[in-house]
Amino acid sequence: IHRAQCLCISSKAKNVPFGGFTQRSYKKICCDQLDSLIDNLKSEGKKHKCCQKCNPDKII
Ligand SMILES: [Zn+2]
Repeated sequence: IHRAQCLCISSKAKNVPFGGFTQRSYKKICCDQLDSLIDNLKSEGKKHKCCQKCNPDKII
């Protein structure tokens, strides 16, 4: 899980081929409520990790 403004998902690195952020095997979900996003993942039986760079689980 990233914050929307996290560089990990918004700045395109040179070595990331086309489609690196929006295609391939990861499903992308945008949400403005972290709790409901995590509830949704749990209800689908999915695990999540929070990005260590943007710390979306910490209130700023
Ligand atoms: Zn991040």
